[in-house]
Amino acid sequence: MEPKELWQSVLGELELQISKPNFQTWLKNSRLLEKKDEAVILALESTFAKEWVENKYHKTILKILRNFDPDIKEIFYQIQPGEEKTKNIPIHKKIESISLPKPLDFPEYTIDPKSGINSRYTLQNFIVGANNELAYSAAVAAAEELGRKYNPLFIYGGVGLGKTHLIQGVGNEIKKNYKDRIKVRYVSSETFTNEVINGIRTKRMEDIKNRYRKVDVLIIDDIQFISGKEKTQEEFFHTFNALYEANKQIIISSDRSPYLLSTLEERLRSRFEGGMVADITYPDFETRVAILKMKLQSQSHELPLTDEIINLIAQKFPNNIRELEGALARLIGILRIRRLSPTLENTENILEEIGSQKIRMIAPEDIVKIVADFYNISEKELISHSRKKELVKPRQIVMYLLREDLKNSFPTIARRLGNRDHTTILHAYNKISKDLIKNRVLSQEINLIKEKIYNNH
Ligand code: ADP
Ligand code: MG
Repeated sequence: MEPKELWQSVLGELELQISKPNFQTWLKNSRLLEKKDEAVILALESTFAKEWVENKYHKTILKILRNFDPDIKEIFYQIQPGEEKTKNIPIHKKIESISLPKPLDFPEYTIDPKSGINSRYTLQNFIVGANNELAYSAAVAAAEELGRKYNPLFIYGGVGLGKTHLIQGVGNEIKKNYKDRIKVRYVSSETFTNEVINGIRTKRMEDIKNRYRKVDVLIIDDIQFISGKEKTQEEFFHTFNALYEANKQIIISSDRSPYLLSTLEERLRSRFEGGMVADITYPDFETRVAILKMKLQSQSHELPLTDEIINLIAQKFPNNIRELEGALARLIGILRIRRLSPTLENTENILEEIGSQKIRMIAPEDIVKIVADFYNISEKELISHSRKKELVKPRQIVMYLLREDLKNSFPTIARRLGNRDHTTILHAYNKISKDLIKNRVLSQEINLIKEKIYNNH
């Protein structure tokens, strides 16, 4: 691939991964000057842009570059102010006009600072299918009879299947119906954790407590992140109780069922199980087609895509709606950049390209990180030689996955994971393989972990 072409493809991908203002500010006018052996030279407009991109996006850019060209190992950054553009006008004109592969033109969405909810997610643009019917009806019912019917409402499901969309959609619906009479607050459990940590540090925990207790509807996303964090759990538990007892609505999402939130305090888990629990699973083919059609309708582009083409996209991306949308956006972007008409053949080729970029090598470090995140422990603890029970199991799972999925040899795994004896790895591998058969919780956990590894989120 030519540097220019390579960079266009990278930009197309980057645009989907980072926010629009960031992309426009830092990367829009970037150029790939040269590819030499294992390195590329990237030109940015200013010192500031160079520093920003280097600090913030280096890893992401390198990863994407390597998806296109696995030989690339290094990026050198250079400053080249904009006047370059005046040279070589014809070519640059061309670059200018193709430099921004426009993905779907979603209208500008805003996050309401009061509630923390993004206006992009509504119940009206949430497609209901067999996979999310129960969760959707429960959510609608909860919104109609706040605090009484389904409280708390607990929604769980895998990556990119619509949890955030649904729970924020309910929030938007409530805001619309009740205007200012009802205070809705959406928060990710990461944000909640940070608030608690800051509150403790600055001795302003009371303020935070009061703020949350004034809320009428509390929506908390990805609750799995608070398990294992004692102080945060405790604060959450008190907030939860205060709201619950005042009949305020609580809506929670999680990547796993309450039953599998293993390090969550028992009292909190039983509270969750006492409300309404609904899951979201993989969308079937018809639902995927409906989602694609809705996404196409919601934006104004001039590319007509036939049903045959839409079906093809739906077929290729069955496991993750975010990926499905991403594929559609990239397909349109690439068709535009290359000025291709949306024929079945062109689509097939491009989807092939997009699909093969996805099957990248999974690095052992990715597995370590994902498993550590899953069990809420640090990577350092995971690799340490500590015999604590809560570390031993995740560590053995890493060993198992490195062997089973990445086909690493036992001595390689032993070396990678803090210079252990390779018989330790062998033992772990055998143990997990055996336990998996009879231990349902373990097998579900490993499935969730694999989903994260392969869904790349
Ligand atoms: P999760 O929180 O489960 O990881 P998200 O709610 O972020 O997933 O959904 C990922 C993307 O897929 C979002 O852009 C969302 O709008 C879209 N999406 C998911 N489910 C649906 C659906 N049923 N209808 C329309 N769009 C959906
Ligand atoms: Mg989410």
